[in-house]
Amino acid sequence: MSAAATSFPVTHPTGSYTVTVGTNLLPNLRQIAGITGDIALVSDSNVAPLYAAQIGKTAVSITVPAGEKYKTLDTVRGIYDQLLAAGVDRKCTIVALGGGVVGDMAGFAAATYLRGVPFVQCPTSLLAMVDASVGGKTGVDMPQGKNLVGAFKQPTAVIADISTLQTLPPEEFASGMAEVIKHSLLDTRFVPQVPRTGQTDSDNPEPHRPVRGTSDDLQSLVSNAIQVKRDVVQEDPFEQGRRATLNLGHTFGHAIEQVSGYAVRHGEGVAMGLMLAANLSARLGYCAPSVQDEVEKLLLAHRLPTRVPSQFETTDLYKAMWTDKKKAAGKLHFILLHAIGDAFVTGDVEKTAVLQTIDELKK
Ligand code: NAD
Repeated sequence: MSAAATSFPVTHPTGSYTVTVGTNLLPNLRQIAGITGDIALVSDSNVAPLYAAQIGKTAVSITVPAGEKYKTLDTVRGIYDQLLAAGVDRKCTIVALGGGVVGDMAGFAAATYLRGVPFVQCPTSLLAMVDASVGGKTGVDMPQGKNLVGAFKQPTAVIADISTLQTLPPEEFASGMAEVIKHSLLDTRFVPQVPRTGQTDSDNPEPHRPVRGTSDDLQSLVSNAIQVKRDVVQEDPFEQGRRATLNLGHTFGHAIEQVSGYAVRHGEGVAMGLMLAANLSARLGYCAPSVQDEVEKLLLAHRLPTRVPSQFETTDLYKAMWTDKKKAAGKLHFILLHAIGDAFVTGDVEKTAVLQTIDELKK
């Protein structure tokens, strides 16, 4: 039997909302999220056929094509068109049902449509549950780089129905584990307890699928990982300081994603980025070389990539880093580690050290 749903508040500069984590929550979405008016549902072509019906009656149900390459202004414009065609007004709540791509785009549409309508996040990927759905960042990619256009838009509720993780492809589950591991590198109070992916057990109906633990394991993994992020974003909602540490691994990761033409998943890019950040930290003398070994062990346990594909040119990756938002005053900013649990931001990194780190971690 699974545990009762877990719920906890997240406060932000203009109010607060509740995050609820549990099983079979989607059919009770209206009640849990306190929605009394119409719902405009935004989902993607993988998730809508699986879960849209559980939401019940909607004013409009919008399905966008699945995948990062569709996280664009064009797709958001398509969402606006369908909202307008359905006569959606300001009392309607936009509900995002899907991974981080759907959440980011539906959130951006909710921030801008009619200058803002209520917004509820129903993340269905592990990555979206533990990271993308909390903290209010929304947006789209531009040809020049990831997440370059967006807005802060706080949801009125986040409902993480972990039953939906049963259909999440194993490589997407592993990708979400990269953000979970990142959280455990930022806060040593949080140790991911879920059984390692890549193992099998007799309860697993599909032996090739990774073990995801019992729903109780998953529920506490997801709740605890969200609370790491919650604690950071509550302290620094607009990324003036500590929140930037949540970008550990992302300066490298986004560049890898971009250079791969988004063939590398976000979590895979983050996994490689965590290795690169640990390597760079040790190279610059900020941490012991053993930190990189520990990061590698965690990533390998979850079958995440720890080396940069050799076909990506080091100079292309370096160039791509300059389109990332983590640059300021003509300097690239990196999140580095003094130790596990002790991350910091620096703009003081020589280009040569970055290039050496990438070269050393190529396979
Ligand atoms: P995604 O939304 O592309 O989802 C991954 C894949 O899994 C997609 O094909 C999707 O259709 C499928 N999927 C999702 N849930 C499923 C389910 N339950 N069953 C079957 N298939 C399912 O990617 P993602 O990894 O969820 O999120 C990555 C995105 O999140 C990136 O765009 C990243 O920039 C963004 N992100 C945003 C924030 C933020 O703070 N806003 C934080 C981290 C990441």
